Amino acid sequence: MSYFQSLKDSITCRDAAEQYGLEVNAAGMARCPFHEDRHPSLKLGWGFHCFGCGAHGDVISFVSRLFGISAGDAAQKLARNFGIPVHLRGPPAPLALDSASDLERWVTFAKTVLHRYYDMLVTWKQELQPASPEESWHPLFVEALQRQADIRELIHILEFGSKQEQQEIYTHYRKTVITIDERIRGYEHT
Ligand SMILES: [Zn+2]
Repeated sequence: MSYFQSLKDSITCRDAAEQYGLEVNAAGMARCPFHEDRHPSLKLGWGFHCFGCGAHGDVISFVSRLFGISAGDAAQKLARNFGIPVHLRGPPAPLALDSASDLERWVTFAKTVLHRYYDMLVTWKQELQPASPEESWHPLFVEALQRQADIRELIHILEFGSKQEQQEIYTHYRKTVITIDERIRGYEHT
């Protein structure tokens, strides 16, 4: 059994939600942290599913989205917080997210994700542009138009910005980066 699978079999999304401060009611429902949720629409069990925004996944993707960290970091965080022994090769697990080395790790991860996404946007913009004014626009072409400049700016700050600027990007865009990462992997698997 893989390390990820053993975590998924040991910790429910409900356990994780309560550990990280979400209020879960008797029916296993909580207010969803992934959209503006006034009434509990997130169902938590061995997985999670939101009836409001459609977010869903397993305990690792739940923690990954909640903190805006990679799946690997989410798994390590779960193992640490739930006291599950981990046998990892390589360097020791990172400490709290607010440490300098954690920020560096996140910046490296975010740069990789954003570069891959940027390359996709460039391709979509070139290959999907409408041939005539009458032709309706491909949604991915529109997305490329809307996001290319912003993504380029984010990459620029991550590459050349100060630690404080990088920290601000983490604060404001960590969820965006995770969403993009999941999306990119979706494309790569189809
Ligand atoms: Zn939701």
